[in-house]
Amino acid sequence: MKKDKLISKRHLKSVRITVWIYFFIFIISILVLMWFTFSVSLESNYKRMKISNIFDVANYILTDWSAEEFTDGSLDKLAYDNDMCILIQDAYGNVVYSCDMLAGNCLIHGRVGLNKYRALAMENPSGIYYSEEKNPRFNTELMLFAMVLGDKSDPGGYIFLNTSLEPLNSTIGIINRQIIIVSAMLLILGLGISYFLARLIETPIVRIIKSAKKFGEGDYSAKFDGHGYTETEILADTLNYAAEEISKVDSLRRDLIANISHDLRTPLTMVKAYAEMIRDLSGDNPEKRREHIGIIIEESDRLAALVNDILDLSKLESGTTELNYSSFSITKKIHEIMGRYTLLSEQNGYKFFVTTKSDFVIEADIIKMEQVLYNLINNAINYTGENKTVYITQLIKDDDTARIEITDTGKGIEPELLPLIFDRYYRAEKSRREVIGTGLGLSIVKQILKQHNFKFGVRSELEIGSTFWFEVKGKVVGEYKEGDDEE
Ligand code: ADP
Repeated sequence: MKKDKLISKRHLKSVRITVWIYFFIFIISILVLMWFTFSVSLESNYKRMKISNIFDVANYILTDWSAEEFTDGSLDKLAYDNDMCILIQDAYGNVVYSCDMLAGNCLIHGRVGLNKYRALAMENPSGIYYSEEKNPRFNTELMLFAMVLGDKSDPGGYIFLNTSLEPLNSTIGIINRQIIIVSAMLLILGLGISYFLARLIETPIVRIIKSAKKFGEGDYSAKFDGHGYTETEILADTLNYAAEEISKVDSLRRDLIANISHDLRTPLTMVKAYAEMIRDLSGDNPEKRREHIGIIIEESDRLAALVNDILDLSKLESGTTELNYSSFSITKKIHEIMGRYTLLSEQNGYKFFVTTKSDFVIEADIIKMEQVLYNLINNAINYTGENKTVYITQLIKDDDTARIEITDTGKGIEPELLPLIFDRYYRAEKSRREVIGTGLGLSIVKQILKQHNFKFGVRSELEIGSTFWFEVKGKVVGEYKEGDDEE
């Protein structure tokens, strides 16, 4: 029900219909404007032009005023060009020039009104009289112009001009017909263009919608294709990026669930088994009970470590963790961490030898590098031999590189296993219960060092020990002060 509503809403706002509507409005506006221009403004513009023409012609006659001038035909042309009747009288009222372009529609040729207009021009202080008149015979609008030539007290003659103020009907008819044809063509063309335009705009969007539907149904291989427009291309790129990230997270989630359920089962079984054992058998035997509870605690620790490591590694591998770079002394960091192991060395007899000659400052993520050091030192402690000795050495390789080595004196790692130990969940001695480990520590180290672009590796000799190393980029800032070796 809700979905149907959404769909019907979507149809109402579809790009195609919207483009159609707007284009249609656009065409109608053009047509209205065109009709308005031709029907309304044509008449008023025509009128204005005619009035201005009358004054131009009057001016022309005035400047070139001399009876001889009229014989050269220039006035005839003027009358013809402007569709105008011209009549010029001398001071006594004799016609010296006459050109009749309006025939029956004219108000000055052969009409009694001429004397009236002359009198009106004489009455006017400027000697000019003009007005819009109506021809009573045809009911047409005309412009009448009368002017006294020379001084009014001694007039040199009179000019009478008369022109029609209405556009010729035939012209208007032709224009109207043209407008109708043009309007119809514009309408058909507009509808056609708007249809194709709507489809053109719609196509990449529809393509993206199809992919989004597939993606929504769980098909993470769906690719968004928005070619056609910059905007749709950017949208498709953004969606592709988002889809990639979502599918990454999804596969990570699947992986994580599979691994977690697999890895959690063993310690959980142990916890349950030993708890049952305490309940049924060893509950009353304090010594056995302590031992079994010890195992439960150990397994719980393993569980906690496993969960933490899984989360850390998942984040690192998905590339969702950004490195938080800062400048710090790796030398001081090593000493600080080793300081925290004092209790272990005091209680369990471990011996740590830290050798750092120079104080080396690097640009790196301090928390992540701490994690690397902790993981490698913990491994060294876990796997070192009977003499419980671990060496941490900082060597300056060249001006900008320092090499940190963590060496134990344990059993070492078999050469064929060396390439595998940085892999996820790899544990060389899976049955070994005395070492609490998840098989993820070195994968975390690898991911962090790779993200920093720091080189790393391991060398190992059976029954002698292993050395895990990594190289950091930075610079020496001086001697390390607190002594070279620390126990
Ligand atoms: P774990 O939690 O098992 O230590 P790691 O990823 O840290 O997981 O190490 C993977 C495997 O590599 C270990 O199980 C162990 O077999 C081997 N390993 C790591 N460090 C050492 C070391 N210092 N000496 C010998 N073997 C090691």
